[in-house]
Amino acid sequence: PFIVIEGIDASGKGTQIRLLGEHFSRRQIPWLATREPGGVPSAEKIRNALLAGQIKPLGPIAEVMLFNAARTHHLSELIRPALQHGTTVICDRFTASTLAYQGAGAGIDIEWLNTLQDVIVGDTQPDEVIVLDIPVALSIQRQKARGSAPDRFESEKLEFHEKLRQKYRDICARNPSTYSLINGTLPPEQIHASILKKISRHFP
Ligand code: C5P
Repeated sequence: PFIVIEGIDASGKGTQIRLLGEHFSRRQIPWLATREPGGVPSAEKIRNALLAGQIKPLGPIAEVMLFNAARTHHLSELIRPALQHGTTVICDRFTASTLAYQGAGAGIDIEWLNTLQDVIVGDTQPDEVIVLDIPVALSIQRQKARGSAPDRFESEKLEFHEKLRQKYRDICARNPSTYSLINGTLPPEQIHASILKKISRHFP
């Protein structure tokens, strides 16, 4: 199975991916964890350029193209071969991040993004997408506690992150067969239990 964990920054994706991996290991289910943008060396290079702001001057369309260029290689070099091998893939962010950050956030046309992503992803659609939902204020509070917030939140508006959150909620509401919104303010073990319940149908 192909499982994706999504959410705004500091929504607890990392913790849940760790707990899920530990669960699979205990059950002797072969698994790997990867992330977007990135996951393979070529895509990690693109990630570094994107996150360092090197592509920003070229505009949001150029950014989307690079996110998707990274995704193509990630799919062909890592995700598809792993799934074909029977390895469960846990991916930190995937197409919903593009719809949230580049669609709702940067204002790129959602229909166009969906079309582009269908071409890039093809049949390799996630079996289950878990969206960890937390209020923007909590996201900021957690990032400040981590020491990773101030710079970004001075330059990026609260409103922007509100849009991301709303987009994630909207995607879940529209695609209930694959997308689940989980309250990310609950204790980690409780969230983990909810995730296990959601993915259980893929592990007969
Ligand atoms: O999940 P992680 O913290 O690794 O994501 C790094 C950053 O990449 C996010 O905070 C976000 O700003 C950015 N990102 C993005 N568009 C995507 C995926 C990630 O802007 N499609």
